[in-house]
Amino acid sequence: MNRFVKLALHWQILIGMLAGAAIGVGLNVGGGRSHVVIEDGLPAAMRAVSIEDSSEQTSIRQRMADGAERVFVIRGAGEAPAGAGAASVFDTWSEFSRQEPALSAICEARGRSPARVWGGRFRRLGGLFLRLLKMVAVPLIITSLASGVLGLGGTTSLGRMFSRTLGYYLVTSLLAIVTGLLVVNIVRPGLRGGGLPVAAAGHAADPVAARGLGDVLFSQVEAMIPENPFAALVEPNFLSIITFTIAFTLFAMLVGGEVAAAVRRAAEIGFAVMMAMTTAIIRLAPLGVFCLVASVTATQGIGVFGSLAWYMLAVAIGLVIHATVTLPAMVWLLARRSPLAFARAMSPALLTAFSSASSNGTLPLTLSCAERRAGIRNRTASFVLPLGATINMDGTALYEAVAVLFIAQLHFGENLPLVQQVVVCVTALVASVGAAGIPHAGLVMMAIILQAVGLPMESQGVILAIDRVLDMMRTTVNVWSDCCGCAVIDAWDEHEVKGVT
Ligand code: ASP
Repeated sequence: MNRFVKLALHWQILIGMLAGAAIGVGLNVGGGRSHVVIEDGLPAAMRAVSIEDSSEQTSIRQRMADGAERVFVIRGAGEAPAGAGAASVFDTWSEFSRQEPALSAICEARGRSPARVWGGRFRRLGGLFLRLLKMVAVPLIITSLASGVLGLGGTTSLGRMFSRTLGYYLVTSLLAIVTGLLVVNIVRPGLRGGGLPVAAAGHAADPVAARGLGDVLFSQVEAMIPENPFAALVEPNFLSIITFTIAFTLFAMLVGGEVAAAVRRAAEIGFAVMMAMTTAIIRLAPLGVFCLVASVTATQGIGVFGSLAWYMLAVAIGLVIHATVTLPAMVWLLARRSPLAFARAMSPALLTAFSSASSNGTLPLTLSCAERRAGIRNRTASFVLPLGATINMDGTALYEAVAVLFIAQLHFGENLPLVQQVVVCVTALVASVGAAGIPHAGLVMMAIILQAVGLPMESQGVILAIDRVLDMMRTTVNVWSDCCGCAVIDAWDEHEVKGVT
């Protein structure tokens, strides 16, 4: 035990992740399906309830005392249930619970497969770790950003850092998209057959997300000006919090004298306390990651991977090229750091990003690893990382490009023409900037790209079933890109500060 505690944190997290995956897969294979018939302890109006539960779907047959029979299907994997017939079909369990509260309570308590029962328990336990991270996120961002901006010493440095950060993020996101487009044109996952439906009748994309490009960009500008900064804190809206904190500290600097000194002192005290709290929470990462990975692997339908294997492969190849070639090259050439050593320092954050599928949720860890393990200065990390978690999503941008081209290949039976691919490139960039750093946000934003190239929203149904796994991969790349940006900008900034002094 003592030895385990002494093991470096990233090894502990890796072990937690592998153990979680092993237990989850074991549960999935051994207890992923169940069929129970309940006849006793039911309300008087019901005679029997038969429940078939699996990761793909849950079918419930309810026989009433008067002989009538009702069938319900709750689909889990986004595909049309086989032989659903006259059944009432629900997309989510909560929809079903709302409509049939009594029946759903019976099914929850007595009809779920062991894998789902344990998957639910692991999700709740892992959720505690995520809650702890969320708890520190807002105060950590504010205090860290405030002390970082005040440490910059002037508006000129701030403006320079801002333009560099945006420039870096734009370039790497575009490189990611181009990589994705190249891979999907070479692998052609949608033209390899495999019996996938052209437009599976899956869940339709959120119609709210089907907005124009300009609209998405403009709403980001709107988010930068909170009508009520306190409401932004409560929501929380990271972009609003970032701009307000920068504005507040800038004006404190302009007021100068005692005011600036007091704000700086308060920010530094707050930051020291929040960092200590975050460091303590990070110790729980191995357990949190274990639970989160076990929950996903226990409840994810495995069969669906077969038919979507080429698509997954294309996304994975693109992400791996971007994460292991493009981004390390930037760190090596521009930051003059060893990419391997840097990745090792950032690995607790990267592994947490993988298991939580949330850049925002991981942010406290990313900040702490950057400063404590990778030696990035607070003035850079506190500025570049929160902004990156909000607007820089290389993995999401790449994934969007591959997914839309895959859907187009399925839909049209051929590759999109080059002009359309340029449209995908631009729209994927905007969609990735607009996507929130939370699970599945990229999937929702994809509606913008589908609309731009004239594909129906429903065509997204075919890729829903495996989104969680791809989300885990792309979130890791999102966070890795933020970290690499942080290293590059820190190196440039340090060079300049040295040059001045
Ligand atoms: N889950 C991703 C993130 O938090 C966003 C996405 O869905 O692509 O970075």
